[in-house]
Amino acid sequence: MRFDVLTLFPEMWEPFLRCGVTRRAYESRSVDVRLWNPRDFAEGPYRRIDDRPFGGGPGMVMLAEPLYLCLERVRADRTDSAPVVLFSPAGDVLRHAEVARWAHSRGAILLCGRYEGIDQRFIDRFVDVQVSLGDFVLSGGELAAMALIDAVARLQPGVLGDENSHAQDSFNPAVDGLLDCPHFTRPERWREACVPAVLLSGHHEQIAVWRRQQRLLLTHSRRPELIEAARAAGRLSAGDERYLQGLG
Ligand code: SAM
Repeated sequence: MRFDVLTLFPEMWEPFLRCGVTRRAYESRSVDVRLWNPRDFAEGPYRRIDDRPFGGGPGMVMLAEPLYLCLERVRADRTDSAPVVLFSPAGDVLRHAEVARWAHSRGAILLCGRYEGIDQRFIDRFVDVQVSLGDFVLSGGELAAMALIDAVARLQPGVLGDENSHAQDSFNPAVDGLLDCPHFTRPERWREACVPAVLLSGHHEQIAVWRRQQRLLLTHSRRPELIEAARAAGRLSAGDERYLQGLG
């Protein structure tokens, strides 16, 4: 899988691609990331990539032409018809289902906006999908693009230390789509707070039941709509339903 990232700040990507899970995915080439700076395709001594908005108002707008030239170069380099993804507050909010789809794709061309955004004519002509990280405004699309690549990377075979890790993660519909249970580690007693006794019991069945109930309890209190979705998809057992009834 390959992501081509159009970014005015390629230096932001160095630490991202050199740390943890994303480093493993990048270095093993299971997630190839190539960086392209639209400024390299801008003209003039100052290589200008933005200008004032027509109609007045604050801020600057990214020029269409350097983005177009940059995109053409990327297209020539990758030869497939990968979709162009723009990160934008106007996009569809990123959720696990989309991440899972991207994880099984051949990748995409990711466009990171800056300033007030990008000339709409470029968006209308070349952008296939718009993705938002949530209802807030970032200074640029880079963090959103990194969020997508990070989430996709951890779903690639061989990237996580333990292949079962993402099976128990929150939102995984292949399991139940619920929130993950709480986790504890050493020491057994930390500043008067103890680990739940069942986790120290060595009784695997009881531990599995406790974890299942904790997933249900947490999801019921924090994200009840995920319980409804799991129920509608037939992912709750009779035992789950009995436990949920007890919660009221
Ligand atoms: N004027 C825009 C608005 O209010 O919708 C905000 C522009 S923002 C300062 C600059 C860039 O950050 C955007 O073009 C987009 O690429 C990125 N961005 C900002 N918020 C985002 C979000 N919630 N999700 C994804 N990308 C975002």
